[in-house]
Amino acid sequence: MNEVAAIVRGLAPSSGVLIGGDWRPGELGTFDVDDPADKSVVAAVANAGTGQARAAVDAAEAAARAWAGTPPRARSEILHRAFESMRRDREALARLITAENGKSLRDAEAEVTYAAEFLRWYAEEAVRPDGGYGPAPAGGTRTVVTHRPVGIAALVTPWNFPAAMATRKLGPALAAGCTVVLKPAHETPLTALAIARLIEDAGAPAGVVNVVPTTEPADVVGAWLSDPRVRKLSFTGSTAVGRLLLRQAADRVLNCSMELGGNAPFVVLDDADVPAAVDGAMIAKFRGGGQACTAANRFYVHESVVDDFTAQLALRVERLRVGRGAEPATDIGPLISGQAVAGATGLIDDALQRGARIAAQTSVPSELSGHFMAPTVLADVTPEARVVQEEIFAPVAPVVAWRDQDELLAMVNGTEMGLAAYVYSRDLKRAMVMSEAIEAGMVGINRGLVSDPSAPFGGVKQSGLGREGAREGLAEYQETQYFSVDWSTP
Ligand code: NAD
Repeated sequence: MNEVAAIVRGLAPSSGVLIGGDWRPGELGTFDVDDPADKSVVAAVANAGTGQARAAVDAAEAAARAWAGTPPRARSEILHRAFESMRRDREALARLITAENGKSLRDAEAEVTYAAEFLRWYAEEAVRPDGGYGPAPAGGTRTVVTHRPVGIAALVTPWNFPAAMATRKLGPALAAGCTVVLKPAHETPLTALAIARLIEDAGAPAGVVNVVPTTEPADVVGAWLSDPRVRKLSFTGSTAVGRLLLRQAADRVLNCSMELGGNAPFVVLDDADVPAAVDGAMIAKFRGGGQACTAANRFYVHESVVDDFTAQLALRVERLRVGRGAEPATDIGPLISGQAVAGATGLIDDALQRGARIAAQTSVPSELSGHFMAPTVLADVTPEARVVQEEIFAPVAPVVAWRDQDELLAMVNGTEMGLAAYVYSRDLKRAMVMSEAIEAGMVGINRGLVSDPSAPFGGVKQSGLGREGAREGLAEYQETQYFSVDWSTP
């Protein structure tokens, strides 16, 4: 714990609301960040209220004009230096993520690498402006199209990827020339504070990035949504909170990007390479202990291969080591809270009552006192079980057998969610036909991972609005402006 405390002190002042380059004490005092592996206190963090929420917007406003006018190359170089710093501090940042989120060090290191890549990608995008110029069809005038920063952006992030969900917003916002106010989840504010410090050290002027940790998210975010100076909301979190914020944002017709909940189907066709599908399933399901919005939530496996797939998956799951994320041998760390464990346990009980059986379940070492849950494979799950209807967010893999392709598609698309999906087949044509029929923003074909900073990440239906990553991610922080120019008159 002392080691983590030293990292916390080194990477971020443990009690700071970051406003205009100052690390201030919280107007509501402090709140404790707990280690989900043993419920010990990792750090006390400043607790901001609405006064500091407004002060953060004051700082973002004061910095906005100069930042928007900073040459793209200069903004790019700041992002690039921050990327290099994240790479340099990868191990310390990973330890910080593990301390506040619980995930295994291996997963945390992978997250830091992924998170840093957003800074590099948008350092590169910052200097590739696109626009348009051409004659209007009727002749005479010219049409000139350009893009400008949308303005002050409010960024709200969840606890499950404390680094990547922050950089996926900070990278494009800063590249576009926006200043930001960021509210991290109260479970995991330290990583966001550390990243803000790295971006400051990389040369971002005071007020460009402001970070407001709080235990009162509705008040702080509410203050931003009702502030006419804030022009953008980028939210990642649950669909329930997303709906709430969209309603508030409607009053000001605010520009919104929403990355919301998922319920990813993992479809295995009869001609799939079963060992490869099991490899993909292990990544799609168990990365971060199943606490990813893209996590495979329901496995639909053709009846001709379902026994083989389930047996192989069970063998792999039984070998998973549950433990403190900070132990190098750990595969699966704790869940974020006791409530999360209780919720997922309830989903398993419901499935068992409806006729499912446990095909594999590891054990949680008895000396562990945190929010641990045994990775579980459920076989013979019925399509109406809650475990396939709801987002699990835990290391539980329910397997449903399918026979008829139309019935399969009805199950796959029979949800209001549409974030990620996975399809396994040796025949790429069949896989593509299936993928095109799936209502999801992203489909992994013969792979268990879809996240990539160069690709447009996002969902359809109630999984969200807009995209993060790729060129599309930058456009979320830009407004299009066009000039109709007539120089025929003297
Ligand atoms: P959450 O919705 O509870 O919290 C997300 C953020 O919203 C946190 O910062 C939280 O403090 C804040 N918040 C909570 N209530 C609020 C309110 N009333 N007003 C304003 N802000 C509020 O979600 P979570 O439990 O932190 O994260 C898990 C959810 O996030 C899952 O549903 C997961 O699928 C989703 N998620 C989606 C993506 C994606 O890219 N689509 C990525 C990661 C997580």
